[in-house]
Amino acid sequence: MTPPPTDARRLQIKPSPDIKTAPAAKRRRRPVIGGAEAAALPRGEYAYVSLHSAIRAGQLTPGQRVRETEIAEWLGISRTPVREALMRLEAAGLVQSASHSGFAVNRLDNAEVRELYAMREVLEGMAARLAAQHASDTEILTLKKLLEQHAAARADAERLAAINLRIHRTIYEAAHNRFLLGALNALSDSLALLGETTYRAPGRGDSAHREHEKVVDAIEARDADAAESAAREHIKESREVRLAMMFDDLEGLTV
Ligand SMILES: [Zn+2]
Repeated sequence: MTPPPTDARRLQIKPSPDIKTAPAAKRRRRPVIGGAEAAALPRGEYAYVSLHSAIRAGQLTPGQRVRETEIAEWLGISRTPVREALMRLEAAGLVQSASHSGFAVNRLDNAEVRELYAMREVLEGMAARLAAQHASDTEILTLKKLLEQHAAARADAERLAAINLRIHRTIYEAAHNRFLLGALNALSDSLALLGETTYRAPGRGDSAHREHEKVVDAIEARDADAAESAAREHIKESREVRLAMMFDDLEGLTV
């Protein structure tokens, strides 16, 4: 048996001929999974974590085929643990069986995207409400600093997406409710299937900034109703941008 690779950071996905060429920014990005910690995992778990990370990082995109042999070669392990991992990912809704080609990364349809955002709206609204009631002064200060970074990064979609994630995570933590955190984490796998960041849509950086400001102002003012309503509004706006990106032909949008 071949031992797992000692330096998983060197791993690269080898695209098969039918895989759409990734944008340049994506090709340059290093694989997310890496280090001795990942390589020390049991092989099935290692394959699962690697594939999961690749989907979340956008290295494997919705609709893309995932072949056992290719993944086994990528990870330097046999096909059996890769198959096990793919079946676990199928159960989690991240991949689906594809005829003759094993599996493909799941692609959400219009109705599923709407259902996902409906849940996000409720949960993000609740997180903002609870944050208005329970956030510490330090957490509020962190949110305000993140808003400043968001404002400074207005033209950089990737950076905005990263700051956006931190803003939302800070609000989740400031809610101080572990069950809400669990529910939000359960949604995050499906969010990985949405594809490119909505910050690539023209003008989204500015509008999202104004929406975040409203949420944070309401949290700082300890106004739970306003915080919930602003957060729900933010998710509704994101949903509209997302639906346009996924299902319309937006002029000037590079996705
Ligand atoms: Zn946001």
